[in-house]
Parts: sequence; C-alpha cells; structure tokens
Amino acid sequence: MPPNTPPEIAALHIARVALDAPVDRLFDYLAPGCDEADLGRRVEVPFGRRTLVGVLLERVSVSDLPEAGLKPLHAIDRSTPALPADLIELARFAAGYYRFPLGAVLASLLPPALRRTERQRRDALPAAYALTGAGREAVAALPARAPAQRALAQRLLAGPVVRDDLDERERALVREWRRLGWLEAADAQNIPDAETPPALTEEQAAALIALDQHGDGYAATLLYGVTGSGKTEVYLRRIGAVIESGRQALVLAPEIHLIPQLEERLRRRFPARRILALHSGLAEGERRQDWLAALAGAADIVLGTRLSVFTPMPRLGLLIVDEEHDAAYKQLEGMRYSARDVAVWRAHQRGVPVILGSATPALETWKNAQDGRYHLIRLTRRAHAEAVLPAVRLVDTRGDRPRMGLTHSLGAALEDRLNRGEQSLVFINRRGYAPTLRCNACGHVTPCPRCTAHLVLHRAGPGYRLTCHHCGLTTRPPPACPECGSLDMRAAGQGTQRVEETLAERFPAARILRIDRDSTGRRGAFAVMRDQVAAREVDILVGTQLVAKGHDFPHLTLVGVIGADMALSSPDWRASERLFALLMQVAGRAGRAERPGEVLIQTGYPHHPLYQALIRHDYPGFARQTLNERRAAGFPPYSAQAVLRAEGRDGDAVMGFLEAARETGEGQEKGVALFDPVPALMSRIAHQTRAQLLVQATARAPLRRFLDLWLPRLGGLPGKGVKWGLDVDPIEG
Ligand code: ADP
Ligand code: ZN
Ligand code: ZN
Repeated sequence: MPPNTPPEIAALHIARVALDAPVDRLFDYLAPGCDEADLGRRVEVPFGRRTLVGVLLERVSVSDLPEAGLKPLHAIDRSTPALPADLIELARFAAGYYRFPLGAVLASLLPPALRRTERQRRDALPAAYALTGAGREAVAALPARAPAQRALAQRLLAGPVVRDDLDERERALVREWRRLGWLEAADAQNIPDAETPPALTEEQAAALIALDQHGDGYAATLLYGVTGSGKTEVYLRRIGAVIESGRQALVLAPEIHLIPQLEERLRRRFPARRILALHSGLAEGERRQDWLAALAGAADIVLGTRLSVFTPMPRLGLLIVDEEHDAAYKQLEGMRYSARDVAVWRAHQRGVPVILGSATPALETWKNAQDGRYHLIRLTRRAHAEAVLPAVRLVDTRGDRPRMGLTHSLGAALEDRLNRGEQSLVFINRRGYAPTLRCNACGHVTPCPRCTAHLVLHRAGPGYRLTCHHCGLTTRPPPACPECGSLDMRAAGQGTQRVEETLAERFPAARILRIDRDSTGRRGAFAVMRDQVAAREVDILVGTQLVAKGHDFPHLTLVGVIGADMALSSPDWRASERLFALLMQVAGRAGRAERPGEVLIQTGYPHHPLYQALIRHDYPGFARQTLNERRAAGFPPYSAQAVLRAEGRDGDAVMGFLEAARETGEGQEKGVALFDPVPALMSRIAHQTRAQLLVQATARAPLRRFLDLWLPRLGGLPGKGVKWGLDVDPIEG
C-alpha cells in the first residue's frame, strides 16, 4: 500500500458483485480503483471461462475467500449511470419476498442490451428534433433511391418530430443527421397543442378531491369504477398534477395491446412531455435508450407492462396500476412476482401514492380496501353523458339450443344490430377451430403425445391442423380414428375460427373480424385491427379475452358470450373470480357511448349465483359472497400461501423430491401446514411431469419464518433431474 493512502479508503479494495448465476450470493473481485460512486454500476467480470455482466453492490476490505484466489474485475462501465440505490433496494425486496437470486432479479430488470458485455455509449436525447437551415437544404437534395431518408425528411419538413415517434431505423438516421448538423433539438413551443380535457363528471371530481386529500406521500387507493366510468380521465388529471410539479409518473397496464391506446391518450393530453412506453415489443436498441432516458430522469411519464414496475425513476411521484385485478401482472416463471404488489411496495418505499384501478378488483385488493389498508374511491356511473351500463341477459341454452354455437336469441340480436348498422362482439375464450377432434364412432379424442391435454383443431388455409396449446406441437389430423379406424372424425365444440365461419355463412354481407392470438401475431397487427373497428369497417368482431380488456369501442352495442360455462367446471378455485372479472370486462365493451348496450350470455346454468350477480352488475355482492367462501375454506386472502413447483422427465423423482420436501418441513413452524404433493392442473407438458406442494400459513409472518429455514434445505434433497421453484402468493393451481 503506498504510504500516503488513507487506510480506510485503500482498505475497500474488494468489490462484491451480483451476477446472474443460479447461486444466491454475491461474488468477490479485486477492484483497487473503484470508489463509492461505482456502487450500482455495471461491471464486467471473469466467471469461469466466461465474462459476465453484473452489478457492483458493495465494497469491502476482507473477503470470505482467500485474497490470493480473487480475480480482478475486467471493467467498470462508467459511461452508463449507476443503478440508483432505491432500485437496488427494490430488487432486494423482490428477491427476498419472492425468494429469487438477487443477481438474477437485477439482470432481469436491466434492458437486454445492458445485460451483455459490449460497451454502450449514451446519446444525449432531446424529446423532439427540427431541421436546421443547413438541414433543410441538405434533405432537399436527398436522392430518390433513399426512400426511408426521404420519408423522414418529409415529416421533418412538415414540423418537428417527437423522438418517441421514431422507430429504431429512423433514430439511427437522426443520430447521423445530428452529427452532420442537419438537426437541432426542437423546443416544446413547436409541439402540437394539448387536447382540452373534458369537464369532469361529479364522481370524477369527487375522486380527484379525495386523491388530493390523500396527499403526496404514500397512500394506496383502490379506484373502483365500473367499465366506462372514466378512470383514465382520473389518472390523466393526477398525472398532470404530478408532472406539473416536476415529478415522474409510472403507469402500468396488464397487456402489451393496451399500451398503444393509453399512450395515445397520454400524448394527446401531454404532447410536450417526454413519454416512454416500455414493453417487450420494442426493439432492443429502443429499450436500452428508453431505459437509460428513464434512469437519467429524462422521462416525465413511463408507461409499460409488468416488468416496467422496476424502471429506474429518480423523481417518481405517482404509480398507477390499471386493471389491477388482471392475472397478467403475475409472472408465472422465473421470479414469480406480482407487478401490482411490487408497485404498492415501491410506492411505500418511495413515499408516493399508488392508485389501483379496476371495475372488478382482485379479491385481495377489495379486502385491503374493506379493512382500511387501502382507500376506496368509487365511480358508479358511466362517464359519457348518455352512456348507461349495458343490460345483461342470460340465454338459457337448455331451451334455446345453440346450433354451431349460436342460439336463436343471439342470432336474432346480431341480425338486429346489422340492420341498424351497429357493431357487435361475439366473445368466445377459445382460439382455433374447435377444442377437439372427436371420433364419432368410439368417442376417441386426439391427445397431445407430450402433454396431458387434447390437441386443438385449427383451420390452416384450406385444410386443418392439430395444435397443442401447451407445447406447440403441430400435426396433421389423422385420416382415421387411431382407436377404432372409423373415418368419421368430427370437430367437437367451438373456437373463434369456427364461430367466424358460422357467422360468415349466416350473415354473408357482414364484415367480420376475428381478433385472437393467432390473428394478431404480427407486430402492429392488433393496432391495425383496433383502427378498423374504430373506423367502423367491421360489423361483427369475434374475439377472445384479447378484446375483453380495457378497449374503448364506442360503436359497439351488442356483446354475445359463448362457452362461458366451461370455466364454471374448472378445478381451480380461483376460476370463478376470474370468470366474473372477464365477463364484467367483456360486457363493459358494450354501449360505451350514445347508444345503450346489451349483453347476451349463453348458459346452461342461468341460476348460478355468478351469472345472477353479473345481471345486477353487482361486483360488491359477488366479492362479499366469494370472500365468505374463502374465509370458510381458509383460502387467501384469509391465509398466506406458497407453492413449491417441481418438474422433470421422471415423474417418480418429481414426486419423491416433493415428498422429501414435505417431510423436511413437517412440524417446523406453528401455523404452517404442508399439504400432500399433487400433480399440477396440467400434469404433463412437453414430456415434463409437473407437480406441486402447497404451503399454507395462517399469516404472512409464520410463512416467512418457515421459508427462511425450509428453502435452504431443499437444495440438499435427492431429486435428480428435478427442476423446482417457489411461487409466493400463487394465483393458479
Ligand atoms: P374506464 O377506464 O373507466 O373504463 P374510460 O376512461 O375509458 O373508462 O372512459 C370511458 C369513455 O368515457 C371514454 O370514451 C372517455 O373518453 C369518456 N369520458 C371519460 N371521462 C369523461 C368526461 N368527464 N366527460 C365526457 N366523457 C368522458
Ligand atoms: Zn374411433
Ligand atoms: Zn403438448
């Protein structure tokens, strides 16, 4: 050590780094040159024979390992800002709560481009660009064989272009042109005017007053508003106030398809503001730039799906979780986190408000509101002056028998809308042509050879194919029954494709559009379809839950629901909560503007309490009854659960592992019950046998204590070829 170096500085020459490695600990490296400012920076380190990217979390003077064995860091990335301490703390919380390695959590919240070792330089990123004088001359001389350049030039000649409206290729051009001096940062003056906000409804005004009273500090509020009640307007006003005061807002939506619509509304309202829409549909380069912009505090509003809850936001002032009940907020693999719950935790951590919005809140959320942990604000009426909630009617399929899925009543209602030039939606939550291919002689149904599931019949061009919705296996339908040899194989049941076909035969003049995962596969396809619907180029929409959620289709006056009963017989006790929410959502698409809406639900169980609550639009009644059932059964939210999920090729090894795990934990903690290992609802996917062990505790604290001791022991249990992971607060199986 050089004699003049103060010992307390020289001493901290070992860096502790979080790496995306399966081992849950930090790794030590020699880092003589690193200092306090490097905490949270990305580093490149040797790991075995590879080089990995990690995050530098601590500096220490002594390692647990002999210092002679430590290797030096390869590099510290000082060209990108360090991860802020609060984000690292958030990652630590998530890693601890969901029992996942911290290094893996940190890696997953970095944009993919920053998980890799190449060096990145950060752009200076103005929000909008305009042509300079030199630029105007230069682009006029662009050659005709450069269509992309000329297209961008055209837009710039018409006025400044907002950076977020540029795609990856255009951004590359912009960088180039800025270097050439053709472009300059445009100021906000040149940007289109903000729309005039509508006059608030009484309920919206009251909601905003209440939110204002909750203050700028931590407060969780459930905004329970019926479909079409104008929750988004409430968000927009709160966001406006927050960004006006120089802080940032984070808005989460459950589905990538909901982002463009929300983004549009935000841009119309706040055209001069920097809005980042983050989602997995973006190109890698875009994600990196946007993420860095958020990290630099350059964004006023960040909008995104699940993973965006981990976006670095130095001036965070508000979090909003739209459609908070949606199961898509829960990640089902890797770190099985709930973005909604992480959002509430983050709001608490940062001391800022969080708003959870829904027409059908999750029962946990509803209970939190009933218990006073969350504030509750209600919007009971639709916002649009003439709009009322749609009339929900049940069509009893025991009397009015469906033909090709369609009852007489629903057919007549569709015809009626066609005659009046209004739009309809036929909702069926099954994609493909028919759920199964069935032998009419012996009843044999074609199974997937790799999963415990039936193959789904899909129409493919002029022919058909069989596809497994779980493992993706696709084959040609067998010409004859593999069981009895009969040639009489028939499509059994309805899928979106078959309903589309039936409707086309019945209403040959109608313009029919199918919206499901198969028809929206290409990037941007969904947005095109949404525009077609908005432009009234569609008479009948056929769709799955993709169309049920959150979309505003003002010309839609009829919703028909086919096949809802299937979910009633699901073995998952959460199925009814999900079905109720889904049907309320889909019903909510009808009658959102001037004309009243009608909803027809085909069912063989018209007296089922779920449907009866639906007719009355009675979410609170449904919630009360369902919560009572949960309390009686000791299910969440009246208990805390974790599920140990295991899978492997060898079913005996999987069950053996879970059995050993159960024995290890038996009697370890009072108030914690371990159930017998059982096969998962889908007990085999792609030849992997899947099973699980439920851990149920009377409360969160004993569960936490239990997991602290139990989990470290699982690694030592026999389980060759068994992959396992823990799911805290599971939402399925
Ligand atoms: P939600 O998110 O609660 O389902 P939205 O925010 O999408 O509802 O609003 C439903 C419709 O009502 C939208 O078309 C919206 O433009 C309109 N709307 C919202 N607030 C008002 C208002 N105060 N005055 C008039 N129309 C409104
Ligand atoms: Zn047969
Ligand atoms: Zn399969």
